[in-house]
Amino acid sequence: MTFKEFMDKVTAKNPNEPEFLQAVKEVIETVWDAYESNPRFVKNNILERIVEPERTIIFRVPWMDDKGEVHVNRGYRVQFNSAIGPYKGGIRFHPSVNLSILKFLGFEQTFKNSLTTLPMGGGKGGSDFDARGRSDAEIMRFCQSFMAELYRYIGANLDVPAGDIGVGAREIGYFFGMYKKLANEFTGVMTGKGRTWGGSLIRPEATGFGVIYFVQEMLKTKGQTLKDKRVALSGFGNVAWGAAQKVTELGGKIVTISGPDGYIYDAAGFDAEKIEYMRELRASNNDRVKDFADKFPGAVFHAGKRPWGEKVDVAIPAATQNELDVNDAKALMANGVPCVCEAANMPCTPEAMEVFMKARILFAPGKAANAGGVATSGLEMTQNSMRLSWSSEEVDEKLHGIMRNIHEACVASGTEKDGYVNYVKGANIAGFLKVAEAMCDQGIV
Ligand code: GLU
Repeated sequence: MTFKEFMDKVTAKNPNEPEFLQAVKEVIETVWDAYESNPRFVKNNILERIVEPERTIIFRVPWMDDKGEVHVNRGYRVQFNSAIGPYKGGIRFHPSVNLSILKFLGFEQTFKNSLTTLPMGGGKGGSDFDARGRSDAEIMRFCQSFMAELYRYIGANLDVPAGDIGVGAREIGYFFGMYKKLANEFTGVMTGKGRTWGGSLIRPEATGFGVIYFVQEMLKTKGQTLKDKRVALSGFGNVAWGAAQKVTELGGKIVTISGPDGYIYDAAGFDAEKIEYMRELRASNNDRVKDFADKFPGAVFHAGKRPWGEKVDVAIPAATQNELDVNDAKALMANGVPCVCEAANMPCTPEAMEVFMKARILFAPGKAANAGGVATSGLEMTQNSMRLSWSSEEVDEKLHGIMRNIHEACVASGTEKDGYVNYVKGANIAGFLKVAEAMCDQGIV
């Protein structure tokens, strides 16, 4: 079978799933040679098996708003691959959520989790629920209704969900409370829990911290550090917040954040007060960054635009899939940006990625760079199993070590003949091999 024949088959089997097909194409294209040259993989038909989720659960989520009106949303859990551990991955609440997006995320998660070196399979779930303008009571009822169905399919040794876009500490709390009531047991069935009831220290910051540890490693290969570097972030959620903290701590300057309404440019950079305000913005549930410019004079709001036209040293898309397209990539290149690091899942379109790699700049894919979040979830699972909790320093040190190892694995599998490190290829091959070997070992199941 040629790569084209393979893609045609996957496309025919999964029509109307553009995000899923985009993720499959990117991974399989880069692992194709490693696959073809391994007779054991071919004999076990690993490729066709690895792109098929082991199980997909779709369910009705009915709930009542504060006025007594009844609504229905759709809930999902895609249990993608359990070759190296229980299904693991977040829950996303966003109106854009559909099966294609959750399959792409579950597929990516499988390789990301493999890269962490921790025993976690891949999964993802969510709902098209729109939390904007919803009261705390409405959010609680929605989470409870969602869990009233999901609890049948998850468990500490089976499937361990966590947060993602639209799902943070509050939602995890409501999920966990409902799970505990229905299952009648207190287990580590979710990660991102509150720190007084089994959550790991550093988990909220971990994705952003991990991204910046990865950027540090990339810059190190060029003999550089983050000190005095201007950094453009998109998004203003949990990942951007953690990254902003770490960049600032390391002497770099965050000059942009963004939301669906536009972006903020702040030449002065972010300090502790501005970083804290990011948290307030997120908690406000209004999906708007304009408020930032109203609060901090000197910060300029650019309505309806993305931050990629700014001249910076490092660009970090940290919002959502396909948020940075080929024109954004060209704008970044016109300004000579030497380093782009994906912090969201698949934020760059394939055409944008091509621009970066052709220009031979430092470019890291999300599945490597943002793996620190789920890695710390893995550390939370370990602490729960041992019934003890580690200090922030201990967790942070382990997280840092994991990010260094992921970088090393990318360099080992992704260095091309001319010495250029193709981090996309490196991450895909390193993540894929482990899962493929495990699938072969476990037979045709
Ligand atoms: N949603 C995060 C991710 O994309 C974290 C998942 C987890 O901690 O399980 O990796």
